[in-house]
Amino acid sequence: MKKLLILLVVLVFVACNQKEVKKGSSEISKTEKEGFKFGTWITSKKGKSDEEYRQEFKKYKAGGIDEILINTNTDPKELARLTPIAKNEGLNVHAWIMTMNRPGDKVALQHPEWYMVSKDGKSCFDTRPYVEYYQWLCPTREASRNHILGLVEELAKIEDIKSVHLDYIRFPDIFLPIGLLPKYNLVQDTEMAEYDFCYCEECIKAFEKIHHKNPLKSKNTSIDMEWKNFRLNAIQSVVNDANKIVKKYNKKLTAAVFPYPEMADHMVRQRWDKWNIDEVYPMIYHGFYNEEIDWIGYATKQGVKDVKAKNIAINTGIYIPDFKSIDEFKQAIMFAEKNGANGVTFFDGPTLTKEYLRAIKETKAIINK
Ligand SMILES: [Zn+2]
Repeated sequence: MKKLLILLVVLVFVACNQKEVKKGSSEISKTEKEGFKFGTWITSKKGKSDEEYRQEFKKYKAGGIDEILINTNTDPKELARLTPIAKNEGLNVHAWIMTMNRPGDKVALQHPEWYMVSKDGKSCFDTRPYVEYYQWLCPTREASRNHILGLVEELAKIEDIKSVHLDYIRFPDIFLPIGLLPKYNLVQDTEMAEYDFCYCEECIKAFEKIHHKNPLKSKNTSIDMEWKNFRLNAIQSVVNDANKIVKKYNKKLTAAVFPYPEMADHMVRQRWDKWNIDEVYPMIYHGFYNEEIDWIGYATKQGVKDVKAKNIAINTGIYIPDFKSIDEFKQAIMFAEKNGANGVTFFDGPTLTKEYLRAIKETKAIINK
């Protein structure tokens, strides 16, 4: 206990110092003025009443939560129902969308050619990598990308939402997080063809037009930088177009991303430090990578440094089920704060027990002191 107190005192001291440096700096980011914010991701449930949501939102607000990111399965009506309820309880709302991975998308399912194709020629339409809900759409094909951007636009139109929040804005995992491999009984020492996407004819055609070569004829695609970069750019292009769309409605663009840019690039072909975006929510889930609590600070700092020049705010994503104690949880929040995060966001709402909400409130009071 004593050790923990000392640690907390040290952390608070560092946090205060950091704040003073920030205040004295001329580079105060746009969201910093709002203070360090706390959020949580939630998924809406059909049939859950307004009153039930009011109670849930009230509970979050009382525990120190400032914003919620709601996955309504891309249903604008459901989002329009929940947003005023949340707003009344003092919570900001973000419209969370599963972007490239669109499980059960009724429109997309009518177009089998829209789906990503693996290096071994199988389409996500009927051959799903890892799990049944991995149903990824091609970011290059005009029709599939327009479908996605259309969904983004429908959400952006909803009054009072703060942002459209892109999730699964990447390729399927070419490497799974190391902590998850045993669950799938997998060893991934190299890039495996069945998890390597997208080799659909549109992607091959677009790549050949620029580079005059076919990746399917490459001796080793894992060291073909043009092919890697082509895919990074394909995702970046969807993000940048989504950004233009949401700005028409005076909304922000945000995204849930992998822990820090180099890691995201390596694991899922996602290079978020290059995007036109307002804020990112890196999922710094220590348990997925068999890491310790201080790694949350390390990964936060990596991202903060990389996007500083672009004035993109970082909200550290924290995965509740992986904590062994409330003390660890409090330390994680402080590690994010002292390493320059704009806030922390928890996955997910239903896992925030009374104990966690109390801990959030206590930590918030320390940070805001
Ligand atoms: Zn493709």
